[in-house]
Amino acid sequence: MHTEPMNARKRLLLFATKLGYQTRMFNAAAEKLGVDLVFVTDRCNRLDDPWNDRAIGVHFENPEAAAHSVLEAQRESRVDGVLATGDRPGPTAAYVARSLGILHNHPASVEACRNKLGMREVLRHAGLAVPTFRSVVLHPLPEPALLGIAFPCVLKPLSLSASQGVVRANNREEFVAGAVRLKHLLESPEIRATREPSLDRMLVESYLPGREVAVEGLITEGEPRILAIFDKPDPLVGPYFEETIYVTPSRLTGPEQQAIQKSFLDSVRALGLTHGPVHAEFRLNEGGVWPIELAPRPIGGLCAQALRFNISGTPEVIGLEELLLRHALDLPGASAQRELAASGVMMIPVPHGGILEKVDGEEEASGVPGITKLEITARLHDYIAAWPEGSSYLGFLFARADDPATVEASLRQAHARLHFTLTPRLPVEHPLAGKVQGTRSE
Ligand code: ADP
Repeated sequence: MHTEPMNARKRLLLFATKLGYQTRMFNAAAEKLGVDLVFVTDRCNRLDDPWNDRAIGVHFENPEAAAHSVLEAQRESRVDGVLATGDRPGPTAAYVARSLGILHNHPASVEACRNKLGMREVLRHAGLAVPTFRSVVLHPLPEPALLGIAFPCVLKPLSLSASQGVVRANNREEFVAGAVRLKHLLESPEIRATREPSLDRMLVESYLPGREVAVEGLITEGEPRILAIFDKPDPLVGPYFEETIYVTPSRLTGPEQQAIQKSFLDSVRALGLTHGPVHAEFRLNEGGVWPIELAPRPIGGLCAQALRFNISGTPEVIGLEELLLRHALDLPGASAQRELAASGVMMIPVPHGGILEKVDGEEEASGVPGITKLEITARLHDYIAAWPEGSSYLGFLFARADDPATVEASLRQAHARLHFTLTPRLPVEHPLAGKVQGTRSE
């Protein structure tokens, strides 16, 4: 039992796989709010970890055991809130919150979101629009004709993120090639090291045509609210699905946005998510709104910078991390609304895999009107993999303006001024060896 007086500083456990930009933003927000953050991570052994002395090290692949070690480490301390960033730490955070009686999603709901097959089953059971889907083992390689698979379809891993390994197949040849590629990816040492379950199989779904949006939401004791709907103005038609531009507010019609809101609320309820941030993707077509995926976590890393919030009745503008800390610790300001300005981010795509030798045009790109920030996150002389094996972008461009069309135009103009020199590397032992590396941008 903790023995601190009631007015002691509030203390929050932040579960994260990456100690990078987003955790620094949480740290800054915590300092501003006068609250203590304790990181729970599986990256404690990294030499460049600036929080080493304040982080609890766990293995997220066994959430109950990880939760047990966190509880042991926290026996003497107060804990007022729990937050998870990224997908892998989610279940551990949920078990810890449940044991401490802290408002949070039920572990079973979080676990359902961790597995794309489980999520499809829950959504279908709740009567939501889902593509036809089935889980297929990758060894021996599946023969689509025997499985009765119709084209076009999408092949995807069950538990990776950032569209890593997601491939569209329009015919048998593409299906077989996609399955081989996915199998190699899932067998690569980098992916094996995550010890994710179900690395021996894939989910095969019918391809859903249509436009795609991302929804950033926040649930408070069972009541979800949408913080932002992001349009994705570039067509995401495959064969791979790396993200590019996100712009908010959405330019979809009122009824289309209402339909997204309804699907969002229905999906959140179906999955049983009850408290905390949600990041979700939906597709829209004449058949309605189709939830692609919901994750009980905020939008990844740097992209959160595209969101700023006004605390009502004050001139104060806060970032997503601060909003989430206020929400998790039940501090005032958690109902802040997104600012009025249009805002967007471009995740800078990887044109082809290679060693990043040179980046040109940074100054010109940063000088484009409306651009607020350019951050190249790929390191020079590192190998950067293109999708579907890749999961890290070259960097991020941010823009703000009065309207979303101007934001989109600024992002495109700035991107056109950037040039990346990537030299292909000859394969070493295995055709895909070493292609999966770098930090993941889930
Ligand atoms: P991840 O969690 O790795 O991002 P998703 O299941 O969300 O994986 O898929 C990544 C992207 O692939 C989606 O944002 C979407 O653009 C595309 N996608 C996934 N499933 C389908 C589908 N059934 N039909 C069309 N596109 C899809």
